Amino acid sequence: LDVTWSTEEIIDKRNRFFAATQRAFVPYEKPLIIKRGKGQYVWDEQDNRLIDLLGMNLCISVGHAHPRVVAAMTSQVEQLTHCTTMFYHPVPAHFAEELAATMPASCDWVVHFTNSGAEAIDLALMMARTATGNHDIIALRNSYHGATYGAQSVTGVGNFRHNIGQVPNVSFAAEPDQYRGIFGEGVQPYLDDLDRTINYTTSGQLAGIIIEPVQGYGGIIPMPEGYLKGAFERTRARGGLCILDEVQSGFGKTGESLWCFESQGVVPDIMVLAKGIGNGIPLGAVVAKREVAETMADKFLFHTYGANPVACAVGREVLKIIEDEDLVANAKKVGAKLGEGLKALQQRHEVIGDVRGRGFMQAIELVSDREAKTPASAETAFVFERSRAHGLVLSKSGNFKNVLRMVPPLCLSMDDVEPVLDALDRSFTDLEKSNSIGRS
Ligand code: PMP
Repeated sequence: LDVTWSTEEIIDKRNRFFAATQRAFVPYEKPLIIKRGKGQYVWDEQDNRLIDLLGMNLCISVGHAHPRVVAAMTSQVEQLTHCTTMFYHPVPAHFAEELAATMPASCDWVVHFTNSGAEAIDLALMMARTATGNHDIIALRNSYHGATYGAQSVTGVGNFRHNIGQVPNVSFAAEPDQYRGIFGEGVQPYLDDLDRTINYTTSGQLAGIIIEPVQGYGGIIPMPEGYLKGAFERTRARGGLCILDEVQSGFGKTGESLWCFESQGVVPDIMVLAKGIGNGIPLGAVVAKREVAETMADKFLFHTYGANPVACAVGREVLKIIEDEDLVANAKKVGAKLGEGLKALQQRHEVIGDVRGRGFMQAIELVSDREAKTPASAETAFVFERSRAHGLVLSKSGNFKNVLRMVPPLCLSMDDVEPVLDALDRSFTDLEKSNSIGRS
């Protein structure tokens, strides 16, 4: 194709022709241009190899350019690229059946494919409101659910909420962050806050609650044991449905099960998927109990590219690869070793206030004072830049931009762990050499 790989030219074209909304949100001081990827690695335009600890924003689940994904996609493109759900095609139908089969057998599940996660979130909210006849939705602070009007309205991070008048009837409860949460450690104080949120700010008749089982953009905040169960009970007691946003935590990322909720002793009424479902191909899905989805049957809800055969062919292959290559177990095993190594780094580097995570969802939170937990945002930016120089792609996240987030492709191997830890160690050492902050 007719493109040049000149950094200056790419920057110039983006600056001139991308809308401000798409230009912003660039993490690095000097743009990182990604030329190609293979497995858990990507290469920049100068052919430097980096370990992609972010799976290109959590989309690459089974690895870049996985040969089986490439084959599934190519073969489908050659036969038929698109037809919409107005015409029948076997691939989306098979994929819907296969996704439904991953859900607990105690319920009857159906699938609606969308083009993106935010669209799926919008649909989940619409379903909850239609099915219950209620309007009030509870979301958690520090959550991220997407950029459409509806998804933005349930997103609890101010930076993503534009001054446009959000979709009404959304209340926010405190996120049960066990490190920095406003009620400290424990589950009950957060469930009490949920009760108060319902009692003070809603009609008492709920459409539903929406939760990420592990808050992703918010800085890897796993819902502590018992929180989802308590939140679901409270929501259902008020007539509401329980929506889980597994866009980041799904597809085995937590190393416990394919869906994170399976290890939490709960079953959602509606689950939202995206990102890893298509290994980078745009695809989202709402998986809902049949009786919930059925309530929207009297009107049309049509996504032109939802259930696109190419995207669904890839989705089917991704599910099979996760099983064939035992990738959830890999995330558990390699994630545990990575987590242990990160804890060891915490012993050596004072600036690391917290290390947390499950499987391949891991985070390091940086503080300038461990007692006061003062967010070390500038230090995080420094370490983040250095980690790139040492060959890693990470993400800087959390409300204070003081969390280094890692959610690698499921194929990250045991052999990658030492190089990752070594690169991080060197990045923190660079920080300590550059100033006195963080020196142990
Ligand atoms: N939910 C979560 C948890 C997400 O992380 C994201 C994307 N970052 C979305 C929803 C929205 O997905 P998309 O960007 O595909 O619309």
